[in-house]
Amino acid sequence: MLSIVIPSYNEEGNVENTAKRVAEILEKNGIDYELIFVNDGSTDKTWEKISTMASTKDNIAAVNFSRNFGKESAIFAGLEVARGDACVLMDCDLQHPPEVIVEMYNIWKNNDVDVVEGRKKSRGKENPLYKGMSLLFYKIINKASGLDMEAASDFKLLDRKVVDALNRMPERLTFFRAMSSWVGFKTEKVYFEVAERAEGESKWSVRSLIKYAVNSITSFTSAPLQIVTVCGVITFIISIILGINTLYNKIWGNSAAGFSTVIILQLLTSSIIMFSLGVIGFYLSKIYEEIKSRPRYIIRDIVRKNDDK
Ligand code: UDP
Ligand code: MG
Repeated sequence: MLSIVIPSYNEEGNVENTAKRVAEILEKNGIDYELIFVNDGSTDKTWEKISTMASTKDNIAAVNFSRNFGKESAIFAGLEVARGDACVLMDCDLQHPPEVIVEMYNIWKNNDVDVVEGRKKSRGKENPLYKGMSLLFYKIINKASGLDMEAASDFKLLDRKVVDALNRMPERLTFFRAMSSWVGFKTEKVYFEVAERAEGESKWSVRSLIKYAVNSITSFTSAPLQIVTVCGVITFIISIILGINTLYNKIWGNSAAGFSTVIILQLLTSSIIMFSLGVIGFYLSKIYEEIKSRPRYIIRDIVRKNDDK
């Protein structure tokens, strides 16, 4: 059986249509499936709609969060609830074309692969600022983690083995795209064209995207801490050179000229110290968050037909 995990946040206009489209395509291809909608604390009628679907149809489950925990948490909740031999993660807005699920399924079924990864052929319609920012983000991530994630998406099929491996990872601050590469396994790629959003607007604000980027980078690599070390080394070298220069000037009697050096040195070192403290503070706050070991999400209800859960 194939579990389709669909995080939904304020998607009242999409959930029914998405369920219908996906069900149609899977039934046509004779694939046994369950749909798992995870309501990520929507403020609209999303929960009413998915819980109604879940209580009337056999192969739909609905999970309700107690508040908005973010798409990452919704993905992991879905993976934990899923019972299939493989799971597919997809967006609720049909930007991930449901036909590709069949393609992924066939690759998984007919080959010895554990992960079928959906890669974007192009990024679809996005505004230039967003495009530029995400390009920069992926440049940093690629360099820092050594994983090529530029065209990566959350649209993936994962074998049960991979799902179990992910479910066993205890960290609170997650970055699904990187974690699902990190666990390894045999991966095959499928290319898809990003469709236009079916209904409504993108659910990411600029603020939430920046937060997502910074969280992902810091939860997955400690490269920024190494940047600080490199900065430290460079300033150390500069200060040695400047120090020798200052001493030389002092010895030969024209030391008053060194005043500008002092100012430059002070500016340079204090800015680097402040920057480093900031980075360290950031990691400290991550450690603090991890160490609290709070759950990644809190489920309020789960609805499944013919189920005692
Ligand atoms: N989403 C979510 N929680 C959030 C934000 C988004 O579960 O806090 C879901 C959303 O309902 C959709 C998917 O994540 O199914 C992708 O969101 P969106 O289409 O807004 O992102 P974009 O396609 O613009 O990257
Ligand atoms: Mg979208």
